[in-house]
Amino acid sequence: MVLEFLLDLLFPPRCTLCHKFLPNSKEPLCSHCAQWVLEQDPVLFRGKHFSLCVSPLSFEGMVRESIHRYKFGGRRFYAKTYAPLMASSIRRELGDFDAITFVPISKKRRSVRGYDQSELLAQLLGEILQKPALSCLKKCKHNPTQSGLQHGSERAKNVRGVYEGIHPEAFRGKCILLVDDIITTGATLEECSNILTKAGAKKVVCATLAMTK
Ligand SMILES: [Zn+2]
Repeated sequence: MVLEFLLDLLFPPRCTLCHKFLPNSKEPLCSHCAQWVLEQDPVLFRGKHFSLCVSPLSFEGMVRESIHRYKFGGRRFYAKTYAPLMASSIRRELGDFDAITFVPISKKRRSVRGYDQSELLAQLLGEILQKPALSCLKKCKHNPTQSGLQHGSERAKNVRGVYEGIHPEAFRGKCILLVDDIITTGATLEECSNILTKAGAKKVVCATLAMTK
């Protein structure tokens, strides 16, 4: 209760998406956004090293600003609103899979931020979808952020050799759901899916919270 009170002082309840104040509400979304979310069709992206990526939202407008607060504004609790949206798109569009993993941020970035935004989503998805959430990848090199690069070829080059597979015995022969926050050209998910399949994963499907248009 004390923690809840302090959190309310720090972060007075506001809608996770449009950021309007939510007086006397325990819901994370205002009624307008709760309805809007239901009307969104999941966005699909077909990959080379993964069969399909599904995203419940497009990365624009209030979604973009909300994810920005989630990643850079300390709102780690937004994951509790985002994960169920992802889970319903995953149920609707992707076939069955054995385990969930995520695209990790670097150790350095994680220690500054205090959490890994995609790991939080993967863990909550594991609870909702009743699948184990595993750490299968490690970011072994620091690279410039993908958002500063426009072209697909530049983005693919920027992520090459940046990740490596860990604990391959945990995912060998399994179909893996790979989770990230945003998909743009698919370069990061391609690179990570390739690493997972080369290390023995049978198949990779992907889900992100949002897709850049
Ligand atoms: Zn709202």
